[in-house]
Amino acid sequence: MKFGGTSVGKPERMHHIVSLVSKQTEPAIVVLSALSGTTNALVEIGNLIAKGERNMASQAIEKLEAHYQAFIKDLVKAPEPYAKAQAIIAEHFEFLNIILKISFSEALSKDILAQGELLSTKLFCAYLEEQKIDYALLPALEFMTIDQYDEPQIGSIKVKLTQLLNQYPEKKLFVTQGYICRNVRGEVDNLKRGGSDYSASLIAAAIGATSCEIWTDIDGLHNNDPRIVKKTVPVEQLSFEEAAELAYFGAKILHPASIWPAQTYKIPVKLLNTMQPEARGTLIVEQAGSVGVKAVAAKDNIIAIRIKSSRMLLAYGFLRKIFEVFEKYRTPIDMITTSEVAVSLTIDNPAYIKAILKELEPFGTIEVDENHAIISVVGNEISQTTDIVKKLFGSIKNIPVRMVSYGGSPHNISLLIAAEYKTQILQQLNKGMFGLE
Ligand code: ASP
Ligand code: MG
Repeated sequence: MKFGGTSVGKPERMHHIVSLVSKQTEPAIVVLSALSGTTNALVEIGNLIAKGERNMASQAIEKLEAHYQAFIKDLVKAPEPYAKAQAIIAEHFEFLNIILKISFSEALSKDILAQGELLSTKLFCAYLEEQKIDYALLPALEFMTIDQYDEPQIGSIKVKLTQLLNQYPEKKLFVTQGYICRNVRGEVDNLKRGGSDYSASLIAAAIGATSCEIWTDIDGLHNNDPRIVKKTVPVEQLSFEEAAELAYFGAKILHPASIWPAQTYKIPVKLLNTMQPEARGTLIVEQAGSVGVKAVAAKDNIIAIRIKSSRMLLAYGFLRKIFEVFEKYRTPIDMITTSEVAVSLTIDNPAYIKAILKELEPFGTIEVDENHAIISVVGNEISQTTDIVKKLFGSIKNIPVRMVSYGGSPHNISLLIAAEYKTQILQQLNKGMFGLE
């Protein structure tokens, strides 16, 4: 059972989670994110230290500590757990204040980021103790590891986690940190932003859990972006493939990397709502459950690159040479379409764009369009859905489409549009594809 930042972000929310998890009949591992806002604050603190702005960093640390002091006042009431919570805060903020004084390094910045999950889990445990609920803490830094390519080592995670669990044959409730891990050098590291979902899925896969529950503040994955479109409905069931397309192409509910462990080890994933635990949510399993379009999602900050060359005509090896440039700069390509004399592709990582464009120059005329969005229409066997193309393009006929990708997978049609049309296209698709307004 993984709970995100907003689910633990207020004392009363933490109380609520404890009442949820203590009702479990089966043994459960609770995976927690940092309190909402904490990781952002820690990123900022790390940046300030890196820039040598120690005074400002010190102020930011103080501000964050005040937030935690206020938090525990409402979290625990009895003197003993309260003293314990205070000691936890003192320990972690002392650590931050020590870091402030030593010279900055990449490894230290990861140590800073890890404080959020360490704090949230320990404070959660202090409240469990106040409530006299039996539990065991499983330190993520003792079992969650990544290799030299930052990929989780599922084999070793399995061995270490099993050993840890075997130490507590009597316990039914376990608590651990999401997001944090150790790298090949044995240093504290993390699974990248939003990585707690990934932790949960890896843990579920490693122990062969009956299910992996991701608890957030919305009742499952919706057919469209609820922040943009007025009426959206939760999707009941998705296949792992559909979920992967949606998670990757913009649905903010689940970290995209968290799909593969669950899929490989056949663990059903449930997206559930902390504030509405009885709601059905979304179930992600191998079977799609039904045929047809299920959801649309948008991915922002996309850069489109077009390479036009008459030399491409009837040539072979052209695409390889282009792709090699992106490979060299470790920049993933998301969408691609080709004509006989041009190829258009998209990336979302602008870090190496200058170098990439320079190396593409010899291949032909290059055009770059920034500030685009990928709109993904996802479903099961959508190509076999009657009139799908007519319906899709019919509902967005007034919007200029820069690229279309269809047939890459049976589950997805992607459109590239200028960012300014995003709201409009999502609204029109809601009406055209789902009959919702
Ligand atoms: N706390 C981390 C973050 O904000 C990990 C997570 O919440 O999933 O990115
Ligand atoms: Mg998240």
